[in-house]
Amino acid sequence: MRAFPSGSGQAKSLRLPSVAVRLLPLIVLVFAPRPASAADDAHVARRAGLRVLQSRHLTLITDRPERADDGVGDLPRLFDEAVAAWCRHYRLDDQRSAAWHATGCLMVDRERFRAAGLLPTDGSVPDFANGFCLADRFWMTDQSNPAYRRHLLFHEGVHALTLTLRQAAVPAWYGEGIAEYLATHRLDVDAAGTARFVATPIPQRPDDVEQLGRIERLQALCRGRAMPGLAEIFSLPPQDHRDLGAYAANWAAVAFLANHPAHREAFRGVELLPLDRNLTHRVETMPDWDGEKAARDFDAFIGDLDYGYDFDRMTVDWSPGRPLAATQAVTVAADRGWQNSGWALTRGQRCSLQAAGRVTLGLASARGGAHRGADPVLESEPHGISLEWYRGRPVGTLLAGQWVTPADGSRAAFRVLAEGAGGTFTAASDGPLYLRVNDGPGRLIDNAGRFTVTLR
Ligand SMILES: [Zn+2]
Repeated sequence: MRAFPSGSGQAKSLRLPSVAVRLLPLIVLVFAPRPASAADDAHVARRAGLRVLQSRHLTLITDRPERADDGVGDLPRLFDEAVAAWCRHYRLDDQRSAAWHATGCLMVDRERFRAAGLLPTDGSVPDFANGFCLADRFWMTDQSNPAYRRHLLFHEGVHALTLTLRQAAVPAWYGEGIAEYLATHRLDVDAAGTARFVATPIPQRPDDVEQLGRIERLQALCRGRAMPGLAEIFSLPPQDHRDLGAYAANWAAVAFLANHPAHREAFRGVELLPLDRNLTHRVETMPDWDGEKAARDFDAFIGDLDYGYDFDRMTVDWSPGRPLAATQAVTVAADRGWQNSGWALTRGQRCSLQAAGRVTLGLASARGGAHRGADPVLESEPHGISLEWYRGRPVGTLLAGQWVTPADGSRAAFRVLAEGAGGTFTAASDGPLYLRVNDGPGRLIDNAGRFTVTLR
């Protein structure tokens, strides 16, 4: 959660008597409180018996008792590593970012922070659930899971950095989405045994985001027909961290724009412009932006979302195709997602399919299939291999499907109509037939080869 610096806090023009007008500058000089510095905060905190941990970019104040191996002592150093990654994202490499510093309060008992004057009681900080950021100061409730505690620290840290160094006053979807996107990380232990921050904006595996559950949450929203579309996410109001689904959706919108081959370059440009209220308008007027196509690309991303989602290999060609007449042979690559066959069907049309060939799906060890030192390359024919299943079907299975907009109002998605070496099916919509080899969207990179599919 974050505070928007513009809006309600802006000074309103006042009509004052002339004496008051003349006195005003003096009063301001005398009574305006000097903004507390990190050094002041640290001094106040120590006097109140709180722990203070410091690094170049962070003063972390906590009432957590010191405990070996809880990872709290590493947080300031990891925060510095994360700040370096965020500055690279925004191409901030000047002296200002080198000197940038934030104060974070990691709180078990909020009363101790209120009593010490470190948690404002003047209404500027609302009664938040997990975290709240105001310029270069943030507050977060302590979490039992060290990975989620770090995630929350980095989430609030991204807010603090964008609010100050970029003067961000952005729509909620971008503000929360980029905080989630840039906070997502894992720790890798280096040769010296030190844990290091590794940015994983698209997590590669569940271990990367221990108990965060964002991808599972989005998959559940899809199953429950509650997943918002891209335009709906763009207009989501600010939320609290209580609504994890909205946070996951905001992350998805930023992940999509930052990585989809059709949008990522233009979106990088938008992120380097002022981060203000016009950001959504700037996105919707990016060169080559087609709102309808972007909405469909986003739905296709969400429909197949999984760990390590490979945008380049999952990009969909939406060309309408030519009507299928007579017999046609097409090929389907094992290392890509849904591929347009180039042949269109009309709803209700019967079609038969025959597939042949052999593809490879990488080393058995990559799927836990190696044993007794042997690590063969896995091969598959169109009926797939039962060593591993993905979304209810053996990996390597030839799949045929169409992009279908359900009548019940749930989001459009690819629907599998036929699978395996052969069969007959009925077209579910007017449009091209798509083909793919069943595998996770993060597992395509080591696949190779093609099936040949005959359509009648
Ligand atoms: Zn937030």
